[in-house]
Amino acid sequence: MVTAITGSGFGDEGKGKTTDLLAEKADIVVRFQGGANAGHTIINDFGKFVLRLLPSGVFHHHVENVIASGVAFDADIFFSELELLKERGVPTPKILISSRAQLLLPIHKLQDRLEEERLGKNRFGSTLSGIWPFYSDKFARRSIQISALYSENLSNIAARFCEDKNVYFKAFYHIENAVSYQEVMDYLTDLKARLAPYLCDCPYYMNEAIKEGKDILLEGQLGALRDIENGIYPYVTSSSPLAGFGSVSAGIPPYKIKSIISVVKAYHTSVGEGALVGELSGSTADELRRKGGDQGEFGANTGRPRRIAWFDCVAARYGCMLQGATELAFTNLDVLGYLDNIPVCVSYKTNGEITKNFPQTHLLSESQPVYQYLKGWNCDISECSQYNELPEAAKNYISFIENQIGVPVSIISVGPKRNQTIFR
Ligand code: GDP
Repeated sequence: MVTAITGSGFGDEGKGKTTDLLAEKADIVVRFQGGANAGHTIINDFGKFVLRLLPSGVFHHHVENVIASGVAFDADIFFSELELLKERGVPTPKILISSRAQLLLPIHKLQDRLEEERLGKNRFGSTLSGIWPFYSDKFARRSIQISALYSENLSNIAARFCEDKNVYFKAFYHIENAVSYQEVMDYLTDLKARLAPYLCDCPYYMNEAIKEGKDILLEGQLGALRDIENGIYPYVTSSSPLAGFGSVSAGIPPYKIKSIISVVKAYHTSVGEGALVGELSGSTADELRRKGGDQGEFGANTGRPRRIAWFDCVAARYGCMLQGATELAFTNLDVLGYLDNIPVCVSYKTNGEITKNFPQTHLLSESQPVYQYLKGWNCDISECSQYNELPEAAKNYISFIENQIGVPVSIISVGPKRNQTIFR
């Protein structure tokens, strides 16, 4: 059975925790898109980890972890994460990398930085991990696929790549010969031997695993509102965090994905640019930010303070619809335990009209939240391990949200650790 675990919002919903948890009963965990630009936080018996590229199944020795074809594969980060796991005492995980994935190279990170500098106040708030230059090159068909490392044509592919990059860098950033063919070839030659033990023909591997009845988790990065097609363009990521893309990236039929767990956080956050309807400020925002997550709402990878809003049913409904959610993992519920009343945004007022649909991007800045206030539970629920141990007000909050979204909540997370989870 194939299950996707994906985000309904802007990311940071707790996909890492959810995947690590569910991986215990899985055979294969597949990271299907994005690169090392965001972190999945996992707290388990080995300690606290923020995984940027490795699938979140790496802490389970029985799990085969697959990096699928749609991932922006940064080999430097890959090897440094593997090294970090080793240093921290995690047994060497089983890992396979799709030979159809493409290489994110150091020049992509340089391009990302130079472009943010060039844009100045119009910058995107990039994490400077090279993601958009990587995907631009991939779709311009000049990128270097891992399988090309083993092709006799590698030197021609690398030469074309360098030539194109140098034209671009000269025009945009006035830098001559930004990338040297020889350096790129040296880098690629070094990778050739180091990557060889990990490679698989991902579509065949995955389809065979489905035939054998393996339990497979597809792990998405970021969330639906950052989807390149349906998110708040241009403040989106350069790939698709939607469960549907999981089938494309892994090379499996879409109808094989039987369950889609959309991870939804009990309040709303966003890192980076782009409108956030109902964005909180001042002491209200500071307090929620301080209490959120495992160490406050600060980027797992970048440390940037996350922008904060109350739960947004309009955005969550849209995000879950895009994901095709069949169930919800509702996370960070414990964080709201300090409130007497909890505002929930149930609709937007957009140019004077009330709407329950997520507006076109240019109308987001014209939209104000319409709140309904629910009773808070005003206590610590982080030790609750059964649904019936939760206070009535917390149960009502969960029911209210699931009715608003129209998808059942099957997992409730009341803390960042594995065992702080209630299966409903
Ligand atoms: P991901 O990228 O979706 O995996 O999410 P991040 O790791 O970027 O951010 C989620 C944050 O919430 C991390 O700090 C997690 O440790 C934390 N977290 C996850 N679930 C819970 C929860 O139920 N309660 C609390 N307090 N923190 C949680």
